[in-house]
Amino acid sequence: MGPGGFGYPSRYNYTKAKPPKGVGDVPRYLKELLGGFFTRLFYVFGLVWKTGPWILFLMSFVAIFNGVMPVISALISKNILNELQKIIELHVGETKTVFWGSAVMFLIIFLFVFRIINKVVLNINSAVTRIAGEKVVKQVKLQIMEKARELDLASFDIPGFYEKLENANREAGMRPISIINSTFSIISSFIELISYIVVLATVPGLWWSVLVIIGVSVPSAIINFIYKRKNFNYIRRRSKDRRQMNYYSDLMVNKDMAKEVRMFDLSDTFIGKYKEVFARYYSGLRKLIVNESIWHIAIAVISASVNLLFFSLIAFQVFEGRIMIGDYSLYTGAITSIAAAVTSLISVSGSIYEGTLFIDNLISFMNEEQTITTKLEAPEHVKRNTSHTIIFENVSFRYPGTQRDVLKNINLTIRPGDTVVLVGLNGAGKTTLIKLLTRLYDPTEGRILLDGKDIRDYDLKELYAMFGIIFQDFGRYAFSVSDNIRFGDIHKEFNGDDIINAAKQSNADEYIEKLPNGYDTPLMRIFEENGIELSGGQWQKLSVARAFYSESDILILDEPTASLDPMAEQEIFNQFDKLRSDKTTIFVSHRLSSATVATKIVVLEYGEVIECGDHRTLMEKKGKYFELFTTQAKRYMEAEEKNGDPLNVGDGERSEKPRRPRSPNMNGKREF
Ligand code: ADP
Repeated sequence: MGPGGFGYPSRYNYTKAKPPKGVGDVPRYLKELLGGFFTRLFYVFGLVWKTGPWILFLMSFVAIFNGVMPVISALISKNILNELQKIIELHVGETKTVFWGSAVMFLIIFLFVFRIINKVVLNINSAVTRIAGEKVVKQVKLQIMEKARELDLASFDIPGFYEKLENANREAGMRPISIINSTFSIISSFIELISYIVVLATVPGLWWSVLVIIGVSVPSAIINFIYKRKNFNYIRRRSKDRRQMNYYSDLMVNKDMAKEVRMFDLSDTFIGKYKEVFARYYSGLRKLIVNESIWHIAIAVISASVNLLFFSLIAFQVFEGRIMIGDYSLYTGAITSIAAAVTSLISVSGSIYEGTLFIDNLISFMNEEQTITTKLEAPEHVKRNTSHTIIFENVSFRYPGTQRDVLKNINLTIRPGDTVVLVGLNGAGKTTLIKLLTRLYDPTEGRILLDGKDIRDYDLKELYAMFGIIFQDFGRYAFSVSDNIRFGDIHKEFNGDDIINAAKQSNADEYIEKLPNGYDTPLMRIFEENGIELSGGQWQKLSVARAFYSESDILILDEPTASLDPMAEQEIFNQFDKLRSDKTTIFVSHRLSSATVATKIVVLEYGEVIECGDHRTLMEKKGKYFELFTTQAKRYMEAEEKNGDPLNVGDGERSEKPRRPRSPNMNGKREF
């Protein structure tokens, strides 16, 4: 069963604090808001700490330095200006002789030494941030991969979960380091703010200006904060629009779709759809951007007017001779900096808050619980290299988050050495039955016994290793040919001969030998210029070779031969029969010719076993199997009458021979 029952939708919502219901409820709201915020922030710090504690130490140092640097720089400049004023007043006409060796000269040198140090620190900081950023990305991606490998397959069926995983994967990369950066920049802004407040409070008769400046800056910062939230919410609300836009543009550039898009002339439809969704998305966003700008312009006019007032008052003090020119520069600089620091404090807190919301995706993904685990403290061990008995006892199953039983009360015994063929229309539940047997999912009801014990009691890794399975949607890996075969049993010691043998048994060897680099040929043209694209039939033979390569006790092939011609399929079945000795084999196959040799044919309909027995018994019964078999046989006969032998041997799409029209059941899609 999927993780934690079926309560998915709420689990994957952002952990958002519920707004207060009244004044009395505010403390609860703040506690939840801040609690959630700090939990996420600490998580991010933990993440970076795990990547390398030095990153945090270095960034703290830079934060403090950046905080005090502007004030020190402004103080030095003030002294330079004041010294110059003194020189002008005292030594009119003698400046040249006095200047070299004066305090001004030393102050200027000091200022520039300080600026050089500042530049060095800034550059080190930016290099550290970039390097640390890359390392954190690696750390997060590794964590996601490690987590993904232990997750239940069921988790991947839930759209909400999948979206979280994608978001976590996409967002969690650079986010953590940018959150840390912002947090340290808040520390810098705070130090800067306090120092400038101290400076401005010393202006004779103007200490109250501090309060006015802060008072004017706060609304601007709040507007900034509000619009950040609005933007974030808008983008989140419209995530479906963005995913749709991506989907439509992907359709146009996707290699696999390019054929159909051209042949069916779908370009205008998809481009039209993109434009339609964009128009919807854009209209809301434009409104937000315009409104935000109007607010900012209004606030800028107000704060400029206030600044005008204070700048004039300070200039007046110089005029009156109460302060010097350097002081004017320092105080007016302080006013500008205080306003900027307040704005930065609030808006950066906003972006940290926003960033931590994205981190929620990662946290909830990481907290996902694995339920397909070994239930016992001391799990049973799977006996290997022997034959096994499998019993399905009243097994029912429904996919997580759905309401319909796709398997209903299945009772089935598979004896050592049995060759079982699962038969049924599309959607009858054949693949699902195999997923339960291989414990990719657990039954909703009933149990499956392996050699008399519930499969949930076995060590999971050992259980998985016992099955050699090729799924309908088997993997096509952008690795070499031999790797693609070797993945059938990655723990087996590498031996080239075993790989060639497996390929020979699945008839893949014929075409592999003709490839430019034989077994070392890289497959797919994703990375390598000389990569080779295989045809559907060739891939399928390769996947079957993977099954031959594995030394599993139970072989399962879920429609492994759909892209192969019937003759090639029959050859593969014969090979299996020859090699399997006393291994159990389970096939799902389109073509019933393979069923004739099976020791047990299981006919599934709407998730129920309706018939079970060997070919002769079921033919005599004249039930569903009989009906399916005779219909298919009739089609073969008709095709043969029309075209001669329909069973042309070869690898399907790449066959060099002139092609004959194929019988309807040869396209791999038609079932009986
Ligand atoms: P078969 O292999 O016989 O073609 P399946 O076992 O693949 O059939 O599917 C049985 C039923 O389960 C189908 O109705 C299908 O729609 C449904 N189903 C398959 N996979 C999932 C899934 N991951 N989530 C929900 N329903 C599924």
